[in-house]
Amino acid sequence: MSGILAGRVALVTGASSGIGEAAALALGAAGASVAVSARRADRLNDLVMRIQACGGKALALPGDVVIESVATAAVEKTIAHFGRIDILVNSAGIIQAGGVENADTAEYRRVIDINLLATVYTCKAALGPMKAQGNGDIINISSLAARKSGPIFNAYAASKHALNSMTDAMRQEVGAHGIRVCILMPGATSTEVANNISDPKYREAIKSHVGKEGAMAPGDVADAIMLMVTMPRRTNISELSIRPTIDTSA
Ligand code: NDP
Repeated sequence: MSGILAGRVALVTGASSGIGEAAALALGAAGASVAVSARRADRLNDLVMRIQACGGKALALPGDVVIESVATAAVEKTIAHFGRIDILVNSAGIIQAGGVENADTAEYRRVIDINLLATVYTCKAALGPMKAQGNGDIINISSLAARKSGPIFNAYAASKHALNSMTDAMRQEVGAHGIRVCILMPGATSTEVANNISDPKYREAIKSHVGKEGAMAPGDVADAIMLMVTMPRRTNISELSIRPTIDTSA
């Protein structure tokens, strides 16, 4: 397929919905071959068919990226199938609500497992092959919550602060090998992200927040990813905040 990313290979986690799905579609439309990962295989298969219907190449890699061997295998299978890995978008993530005093520590751990450690696993697996290629682009989907803590979303904010720190340190680790590493921090984006919040009060509050008039569409965030991967290779957009125009707070 022709396009600005023709010949390049991408792996997108969290591709069964929202930002990851939009990123996979945008990368595929620009000519990249795209491997897509998440737990819901039916959604991935449908996405693969949509990318293929537009003339693109795609591969579904269903699995839970919290399991290190599954996350590693997603990278390995991408390379085995398409021959290389040029772009890794880590969009798998969840929100949970709560503070510390009454924290469900198993749930807290799960937020860290998905939002931080799963991304460590895929990055770890991709860096060697990207180094061998002499290039690569890694985009980790963080959040404006990485800039602002609050009493209600302790685990989420902690996970995204840690993700930013991990990602920027990794950028310094591998930049000399031609690998660009980007932190992308979206604000309210209309996706399904609220659906799995266990506390119904906060589930509804986040549903309203991300579904409000003026919220970004997942494709807007995908456009930012496209910007990151199409800059001249000498330029690494190391971090980018993107928010609804109507959200004017700092
Ligand atoms: P969605 O809920 O639409 O997408 C989340 C994706 O993560 C799904 O594809 C889900 O797939 C996948 N996922 C969750 N847990 C796992 C797991 N254990 N293993 C594999 N995949 C998993 O939400 P968004 O698109 O909004 O979220 C994407 C990222 O964007 C997240 O990191 C989120 O924190 C971040 N973000 C979102 C904002 C928003 O307003 N929407 C704002 C700021 C940041 P499945 O369930 O099939 O496994």
